[in-house]
Amino acid sequence: MRHLLDTRTLSLIEALRLLDVSEEMRDTQSREIRKLPTLRGKTVVNLFFEDSTRTRISFEAAAKRLSADVINFAAKGSSISKGESLQDTAQTLQAMGADAVVIRHGASGAPRTLAASGWISAGVVNAGDGTHEHPTQALLDAFTIRKRFFGADSRGHDLAGLQVTIVGDVLHSRVARSNVWLLTTLGADVTLVAPPTLVPQDVSSWPVRIVYDLDEAIDAGPDAIMMLRVQLERMKAAYFPSEREYSRQWGLDAARLARLPADSIVMHPGPMNRGMEISADAADSPRSTVLEQVANGVSVRMAALYLLLAGERETTHEKEDAR
Ligand code: ASP
Repeated sequence: MRHLLDTRTLSLIEALRLLDVSEEMRDTQSREIRKLPTLRGKTVVNLFFEDSTRTRISFEAAAKRLSADVINFAAKGSSISKGESLQDTAQTLQAMGADAVVIRHGASGAPRTLAASGWISAGVVNAGDGTHEHPTQALLDAFTIRKRFFGADSRGHDLAGLQVTIVGDVLHSRVARSNVWLLTTLGADVTLVAPPTLVPQDVSSWPVRIVYDLDEAIDAGPDAIMMLRVQLERMKAAYFPSEREYSRQWGLDAARLARLPADSIVMHPGPMNRGMEISADAADSPRSTVLEQVANGVSVRMAALYLLLAGERETTHEKEDAR
C-alpha cells in the first residue's frame, strides 16, 4: 500500500488485510512490552491543520509503538499561520526525510493533492479531510464491530449480515462517508438517519437506505447504531430549529436505548456532545463501544503505518529474492 487516502477505493481484500493486521497489532498490545522494533529508523510526521485530540494522539502512539520517530507539526503557531503554502510545508518535510505524512486538513482532497503532487516521496495517510473522508476512523469502527460480533479471533471475517445505522449530521461528516464505503464493501447493510436538511445531495448514489425517523430505524433492530457529532463549527446556516429539538428527534436517549436489540452496540467517533446527539445513559452504557473505539484506533493506525512503511520494504525484498 502506497498511501491511505480514502475507503471508497479500498477493495475487500485490502480492507480485510488492514483489519487482520490490526488484529495482530492488537495482540502485541496486551504483551508486557508493547513496543515493536518494526519501524525503527523511519520518520512519521503528523501534519495537523485542523484541531484533533484523539486522532493525533492515536497516530503518535501507533508510530511510537512501532519505534518510528515522530514529528508533530500543528498548523497553529507554525509558519502556516504566516501564510506558508502546503507545497512549501511538504517540501520542508521532504527535506527532513519524512517517510510517512499523516495529514488532517480542512479542505476535502488535500491529502490526495499532497500524495499526487510529487512534492514528497513519503506515504500519505488521510487523518480527516474536510467533509470528505476519515479512513482510519472507519477502519477502527469496522474493527470494533467485527470484534464485538465475532469475538476473540475475528480474523478473516467480513461484516455480511450485520445492520449498521448511522445517525445525525451526515452532511458534514467524513466519518459517515468513510463508514458508508467501508462497511458496505465489507458486506454490511447501512442505513442513514438524519434530518432532511443534513442529508447530502448526492446521497441517492450511495449504497445505503435513508430514513428520516430515528424511532423507525431503532424499531428495525440494528446491530450497531453510530451516533455522529453535530458539527456546529461547519454549519453556516440553521439546519434544525434548536439543540433541544434536535436531541428530541435525533438524539439517542435512555428510552430509545432501551428499545434497541439486547446485543446491539452504540458507537460514537468522539468528541461527543453529551445531551445532544447522545445522552449520558447511552454514552456510558455497557453497550457503548466509545472507549473500545479509541483503544482499537491505535492498533488500526499501527496496521496502516506498518502496511505503508514496512510493507513497501517487504516488497523490495521479495523483488530482490526473486532476482
Ligand atoms: N473526530 C471525528 C472527525 O474528526 C468526528 C468529529 O469530529 O465529529 O471527523
